[in-house]
Amino acid sequence: MRPASYDLLFEPLRLGPVTTRNRFYQVPHCSGMGWQRPRTQAAMRAMKAEGGWGVVCTEYCSVHPSSDDGHYPFARLWGPEDVRAHALTTEAIHAQGALAGVELWHGGAAVANFDTRLPTRGIASRPVTNTAMTHPGQSRLLDRADIRALRGWQVEAARRAVEAGFDLVYVYATHGYLLSEFLDPVANRRSDEYGGSLENRVRIVRELIEETREAVAGRAAVATRFSVDLQEPESYEAFALLAELPDLWDLTVRDYDIEMGGSRFVAQGALEASVARARALTTKPVVAVGRFTSPDTMARVLRSGAQDLIGAARPSIADPFLPSKIESGRIEDIRECIGCNVCYAHDTLGVPIRCTQNPTMGEEWRRGWHPERVPPAKRRERVLVVGAGPAGLEAARVLGERGFEVLLAEASRTLGGRVAAESRLPGLAEWGRVRDWRVGQIEKLAGVSLFRESPMAAADALAVEADHILVATGARWTSDGIGRSRNRPLEVPEGALVVAAEALLSGAQTPPGHAVIFDDDHYYLGPVLALALRARGNAVTLVTTAGRAGDWSGHTGEAQATNAGLLRAGVRIVTNRRLEAVAPGAVTTACVFAGERQDLAADWLLPLTRREPVDGLYRELAALQEAGETPGLKGLQRIGDCEAPNIIAAAVYSGYKAAVELEAESSTLWPWRRDVA
Ligand code: ADP
Ligand code: SF4
Repeated sequence: MRPASYDLLFEPLRLGPVTTRNRFYQVPHCSGMGWQRPRTQAAMRAMKAEGGWGVVCTEYCSVHPSSDDGHYPFARLWGPEDVRAHALTTEAIHAQGALAGVELWHGGAAVANFDTRLPTRGIASRPVTNTAMTHPGQSRLLDRADIRALRGWQVEAARRAVEAGFDLVYVYATHGYLLSEFLDPVANRRSDEYGGSLENRVRIVRELIEETREAVAGRAAVATRFSVDLQEPESYEAFALLAELPDLWDLTVRDYDIEMGGSRFVAQGALEASVARARALTTKPVVAVGRFTSPDTMARVLRSGAQDLIGAARPSIADPFLPSKIESGRIEDIRECIGCNVCYAHDTLGVPIRCTQNPTMGEEWRRGWHPERVPPAKRRERVLVVGAGPAGLEAARVLGERGFEVLLAEASRTLGGRVAAESRLPGLAEWGRVRDWRVGQIEKLAGVSLFRESPMAAADALAVEADHILVATGARWTSDGIGRSRNRPLEVPEGALVVAAEALLSGAQTPPGHAVIFDDDHYYLGPVLALALRARGNAVTLVTTAGRAGDWSGHTGEAQATNAGLLRAGVRIVTNRRLEAVAPGAVTTACVFAGERQDLAADWLLPLTRREPVDGLYRELAALQEAGETPGLKGLQRIGDCEAPNIIAAAVYSGYKAAVELEAESSTLWPWRRDVA
């Protein structure tokens, strides 16, 4: 049974004309599914409803073709065909007893309209404001006819939303999109009734809330997504002018890097103080996010009166069944989000979101995967899993859930593989949840036996007499310099010092003095190792072939904080240069454009360019199998980084997939069901 202190999380709440069954509210979040993948979308959202969320919203939903995010998958309600597509989602959400919400959206100057080729509309004529895209196009200055048209588009879309079955319809007045351009005292330089005074600047939001209410005619609640910020008193004045108009406030802060901040930079509940101050100015219910995964924190936040509903995007992605686990008191089963933003990254890459913690995310329709249910084993066969990193732990967990007899052998004392090592580095502590949740689940499974300090050679593996062997022995960073920008190994002359990242990852001593990290990996590890070395007292220069440190973190929304953090820590960042050579006391780099070489005085070099799979065991077993010397062995597979080094999410996915497909007649890899808009 759950503690009584969580009961208030399960109290129903009226939101205008509709009532949510509890306080768990999945706020609108992008999914990389948008209008292109309607069945994928419906199945993913329905899974959250099945998991107990009281309200499940879809993602930003364009009201008109002049709001077209082209290369990002967005939703839209432009016409009857879109109504039909959305109805798949609302029906699936309703079937699980939840309410469905839609965030009507006009992107203003933040979109480029690449697909529709209509002029971008904005509060000023200026370059497209989306900072992730330096497109040379400019927006057209909205005239009064455009503003009248905008009001009409919102009304039409609101009517379609009700027709599609939505119970909550949004007015979306933040995140830099069109309505927030109006609110902005600097960007809005209009001299008409939509510019100048605060009263004038909030006018369009007031009109849209009132007109949306008329359009939905009591069949749906009107929600408004809005930003407040303790550093900007005017945001509360604007909020106060609108405070009683919508049925529900979905509040956030101005800085998206805080709202959506990775756990490296932002803690759970970071919006609380900003939201609480606005909550005191309205009688209407308030929802806000905060990467909430702890039911104690959720209950405390509701009890404090800071907000009325627990908003979540990422925690609902990592664990669609979070509410039902709290409801039934299964707190230790909650699969907590680690705050890595890999979900968000894949939306920005234009593909369905995925999740480091939840390998079934995005695969609910295409492969029929379920985050809480796995197919039972047909026969209780014995499976040996070698290596207890993310891939091996996930495979052992799923095989155990399925009812196989599982032996999990790990060479070292510690479990978690790379996650154990990386979670000791600056800012990455929460990533240890990848290991902790899996170890906790495995400990409950009678069919899984865990053997630590058990390095397996081929003979040991065969002596186990398993029916199947999964080799999850991972990969290790090399020091040879081969990578994206070098094909040839680095020559290391006498007296020059080159150290592999593994030294730092294992906690071993590293040399003193000035270290150069050559980062051709471009994700978090280079910057995090730079901070670790600064903490050890080294002077550090990070050299990258990209234009900024941790370039791929642009997709996870962490590039800004990564670079700012390095600069604040005194790390020198050298951009657009590749590694040429190393010599005693120097590292030679070359400009990636002009090729001009330069020597950098340095005591040692850490090249972060490539990992080598630890696949000796796999290759040896595969050779024996090929030679017919593995009688009784039905299946041998390598999984995770041992197969192809990748991000942690890929290793977890690989472990899940291998385990869920063991014994299957055919892989769900291909053909899978293909979604058609
Ligand atoms: P992945 O990300 O694919 O899960 P990791 O590198 O994180 O891979 O983890 C691999 C794990 O495998 C490590 O914990 C490592 O100690 C273990 N390992 C490597 N070789 C062997 C072996 N021969 N026998 C048992 N465990 C091994
Ligand atoms: Fe959380 Fe990472 Fe999963 Fe996103 S990908 S929900 S941030 S664990």
